Amino acid sequence: MAWMCSGKTNNELVNNLVKAHIISSTLVISAMRAVDRAHFSRDDPYEDSPQGIGYGATISAPHMHGYALEGLKQYLQPGMRALDVGSGSGYLTACMAEMVGDTGHVVGIDHIPELTSQSLVALRAHYPEWIESNRIKIVTGDGRKGYAPEAPYDCIHVGAASPKKPTELLAQLKAPGRMFIPVGTSSQYIVVYDKDAQGNITEKDVMGVRYVPLTDAAKQWTN
Ligand code: SAH
Repeated sequence: MAWMCSGKTNNELVNNLVKAHIISSTLVISAMRAVDRAHFSRDDPYEDSPQGIGYGATISAPHMHGYALEGLKQYLQPGMRALDVGSGSGYLTACMAEMVGDTGHVVGIDHIPELTSQSLVALRAHYPEWIESNRIKIVTGDGRKGYAPEAPYDCIHVGAASPKKPTELLAQLKAPGRMFIPVGTSSQYIVVYDKDAQGNITEKDVMGVRYVPLTDAAKQWTN
């Protein structure tokens, strides 16, 4: 089901994600309609599979972006603050920015400078006001450490797999707040970490996945 949502256009892809019950809320559906994947992926943007974007990175499959946005939607409400670790193409960061609206703020962080520049070119071309107004900020750095200058965040999305529990990132979540992150090495699961209002953290494995690893920039080149 999850891999069968390809379309000929962005709208057709979104319709197929709705039909497959991967996305269902108005906020997520309208964000995925508003942000065209073709702005962020040169190759087969409406195929429901990951596509190479250069530098050992991929834009994740649309169904995974759909699950992530649905999983985080309570924490991507207008005015909220979010962090997208391993922002890569910038597509998901843009969807998150559409959801939090003009009073919200999203930081995308990736460790490959060529990817952050590439994503900024796409964002400036298609959503220039989001960059000018600082609704979106893209930074280059090691996302395993999060982005402390703007912490804490209502939610954190991680687009690459962490080999272990992401302690440093959990410290940058608000209370309450939520993280959606692939965890593991040879076998990986999406783990949703919830921090409650008192700061207690619970975790839930939601599905098995295959993501590229959160790694050192030099290692990624040799992948
Ligand atoms: N979510 C993005 C990219 C997914 S690919 C999209 O859908 O377009 C995973 C991304 O994580 C790659 O862009 C890679 O460069 C980045 N990455 C891997 N390790 C990282 C690290 N330590 N710090 C920051 N980014 C990292």
